[in-house]
Amino acid sequence: MVKNPFACSECHQILADGIDQCTRHPHAPVSSDWSGYVVVMVPDRSEIAHRLNIEIPGSYALKVNIR
Ligand SMILES: [Zn+2]
Repeated sequence: MVKNPFACSECHQILADGIDQCTRHPHAPVSSDWSGYVVVMVPDRSEIAHRLNIEIPGSYALKVNIR
């Protein structure tokens, strides 16, 4: 079974394998229970990036569930 990587509950960024803390939000909880995978290349021109307040290109989860 493949384990999901963690996603930051604050910025929704999907973290690299083995990383359990967002570099920009070290105090925000992370969760492996997330859904919706979106890759943002150019945040300025992305509708979804605007909605999620994404300013940095990367991989993001649409929804992050915190237990
Ligand atoms: Zn974050």
